[in-house]
Amino acid sequence: MAKFVFVTGGVCSGLGKGITASSIALLLKAKGYKVFMQKFDPYMNVDPGTMSPIQHGEVFVTADGCETDLDLGHYERFIDEELNYTSNITNGKIYSSVIEKERRGDFLGATIQIVPHISNEIKNKIYEAATTSGADIVITEIGGTVGDIESSVMMEALRQFRQEQGRENTVFVHTTLVPYLFGSNELKTKPTQNSIIELRRLGIQPDIVVTRAPIDLGESVRKKIALFGSVPVENIIEAKDVNNIYQIPMNFHKQNIEEIILKQFGLKITKSNLAYWEELLQTVENLKGEVEIALVGKYVELEDAYLSVKEALKAAGYKYHTKIKINWVDSEALEKKNVKLEEVLKDAKGILVPGGFGSRGIEGKILACQYAREKKIPYLGICLGMQIAVIEFARHVCKLEDANSTEFDPVCKNPVIDLMADQKAVTNKGGTLRLGNYECHIEKGTLAYKDYGKDMILERHRHRYEFNNKYREVLEKHGMVFSGINPDLNLVEIIELPNHPHFIAGQFHPEFKSRPTKVHPLFDSFVKASITYQENLKK
Ligand code: GLN
Repeated sequence: MAKFVFVTGGVCSGLGKGITASSIALLLKAKGYKVFMQKFDPYMNVDPGTMSPIQHGEVFVTADGCETDLDLGHYERFIDEELNYTSNITNGKIYSSVIEKERRGDFLGATIQIVPHISNEIKNKIYEAATTSGADIVITEIGGTVGDIESSVMMEALRQFRQEQGRENTVFVHTTLVPYLFGSNELKTKPTQNSIIELRRLGIQPDIVVTRAPIDLGESVRKKIALFGSVPVENIIEAKDVNNIYQIPMNFHKQNIEEIILKQFGLKITKSNLAYWEELLQTVENLKGEVEIALVGKYVELEDAYLSVKEALKAAGYKYHTKIKINWVDSEALEKKNVKLEEVLKDAKGILVPGGFGSRGIEGKILACQYAREKKIPYLGICLGMQIAVIEFARHVCKLEDANSTEFDPVCKNPVIDLMADQKAVTNKGGTLRLGNYECHIEKGTLAYKDYGKDMILERHRHRYEFNNKYREVLEKHGMVFSGINPDLNLVEIIELPNHPHFIAGQFHPEFKSRPTKVHPLFDSFVKASITYQENLKK
């Protein structure tokens, strides 16, 4: 039977609960335990797939095709394990499944209530994660802040869970804020005290308190929190502000958080294998050069909308000991008459068009892509970024002037990007995209083959539209190479331009599979090409 760690948050959001949960998981894994992670989101959407990135940031996609919270991206990048449908549970998912069971008649005449029916469903999701993953330890993060109406049933389910499993199988980690007040120049413990009281009101006594603070707490503050919080002083783990999130696991490790957890579980404490992580930290802190990459999107004011892309670029930078300077380019602004492309993109050594939906800013992305193609600047297109590259090439090279995607122009004469027949019948928006892993066969002798070094790959998808195979021949004739094809559906997965130093785009999302310690091949080669481009300019 697995053991369970629950990570809750108090005082306010944005304290880095996701990174705390990921760091704990990483440290337990480094002790040789098999870990699995879950995020509970208290909102009523079934998943974040239908939410605007402005509301929610990026939608992360798991290998099995679940649209999930962006914290799952942190989890996967930290623990380097593939998560799945049991990893992101929302109130929407819980309620809809209970109501579906009620409609089916599964409850045999009972009155359906929050407790026990909803709370049982929540507990089942924790057990399901444990049994399907076969993990030794499941780490579950609860979104929101303790005391929120939204998360109250989830907290109730966790209270019951501890009753069932006992302290020897459950560890509660509560993350809080210890603010520093200027003027009186001191750290204040009251918000932390109150948030622990709030947690206790829900029937949960934390075992470990993780305190976010700008400076070291010092002995007296630690003692105070321990006293009021009823936790041993050594179970106060300080999460001091850091410049670089990869430092957090090491900071926690120095305070023995994983040993405290393993001791409570009665599990063996072995030596940690963290050398690879320390090496990463060393690299990140000693980057030598810098290269500018233009990321052309429509939510650039909100970096979280492109979180995994940003992390994948940074990871590629680490491999070459180079800092990636991202120039966040608003695609809509590029469409304005008084905006000069060569001004905005003058320092770009690589141009990346990431995923996206809807017609706003599309023409700006096409302009940026054309600029990359014509000026021979390295280009990486991701999902929509591949569709953009196809439209641009069809319009300006193949002279199909009104080429477009039917997403943006449903009646265009040259729909180079179009819906497949099965998608035309779809009416619901939620969960109906082409999602998750699909195979892609790679043609030998291409850039894609050079990058991946094998002829069959699996990549994660999240899109509705596809390359329209009717146009393959004409685009090929003009020099576009279709280097990756899905063998089952004969769909275009990767395109490239061999008469360009580095122009490649995929219909999938490589960013979801990249890790800080194991960069994805497409990001690797793109950043490498951008560095080479920069070096050639100097010659
Ligand atoms: N909007 C495009 C589609 O649905 C691309 C989606 C994406 O970039 N994730 O096919």
